[in-house]
Amino acid sequence: MSQLLSLVVPCYNEEATIEIFYNEILKYEKQIDADLEFCFIDDGSRDKTLSILRQLHAKDERVHYISFSRNFGKEAGLYAGLSMAKGDYVATMDVDLQDPPSLLPKMWRMLHTEGEEIDCIATRRDTRTGEPVLRSFFAKLFYKFINAISKTNIVDGARDFRMMSRQMVDAVVADREYNRFSKGIFSWVGFHTVWLSYDNIERSAGETKWSFWNLFRYSIEGILAYTVVPLYAASVLGIIMCVLSFLALAFIFIRSCIWGNNVAGWSSLVCIITFLGGIMMLSLGIIGLYLSKIYLETKKRQIYIVREQK
Ligand code: UDP
Ligand code: MG
Repeated sequence: MSQLLSLVVPCYNEEATIEIFYNEILKYEKQIDADLEFCFIDDGSRDKTLSILRQLHAKDERVHYISFSRNFGKEAGLYAGLSMAKGDYVATMDVDLQDPPSLLPKMWRMLHTEGEEIDCIATRRDTRTGEPVLRSFFAKLFYKFINAISKTNIVDGARDFRMMSRQMVDAVVADREYNRFSKGIFSWVGFHTVWLSYDNIERSAGETKWSFWNLFRYSIEGILAYTVVPLYAASVLGIIMCVLSFLALAFIFIRSCIWGNNVAGWSSLVCIITFLGGIMMLSLGIIGLYLSKIYLETKKRQIYIVREQK
């Protein structure tokens, strides 16, 4: 009996791309020595995405889908897809063909190379052609920063396009955190991962759903989820400020003992007070961010809500 490969595909307002994607997969199907299963996730789309998925399901019984009650975000979509996938192997990919289906046969073969124990083939983009310059710049900066302060390695240019063994999928699904950052979770669960690189490809149709602000929030999410170094940094900064101000106090005390008191220097005083105020606000802000994550996590909210499933 041949093995089953599930394709997990989150879709948000993707009426323009779903059929292109489906037909593209059919082209490469024969090169993969497995049965296929499609797991589409309609992430609360407001266009014809759901009705296209219904049509595909009616036409091809290998097509399954979950439709969310509202937009829950790509992370929730990936989680829902991984939970519903039944395959011995599962591949996660975007519907806009930025994750080329032509790589699937190669990934499948790599996972089945005899003698090598590989659990996951992950992909990364070598180039960021076609992306706004400023966006690439900040993306690079983010990866440098997070890898400098976090123990979980987050690979620059890593896509959410990967093929995993059942064992690894089960580990990812068992991690039921609410504030999800998949790039971190995939790395955190471990297992043997091999990286494949390819050139950036622009979307087949439709538009990207990520604004610059969304990406910024996503980066903060990644930092908060995978490292508490900012909290340490705030404490260390506090200690340094205490030592400095103690030294300054000693200096002022000795100076006024020798030369008497004088009122000069109020402007520097104001500077110091505002500086300290700023540092305190910053530290409080950092603590607040972590606190908000704990708050959301303890609510144990559902990661997604299903409206229709086939
Ligand atoms: N997506 C989703 N929910 C969202 C936003 C995006 O399921 O709230 C899906 C989208 O349909 C696509 C994938 O996530 O399949 C990647 O989105 P997009 O192509 O807009 O992002 P980019 O490739 O520009 O990073
Ligand atoms: Mg895309």
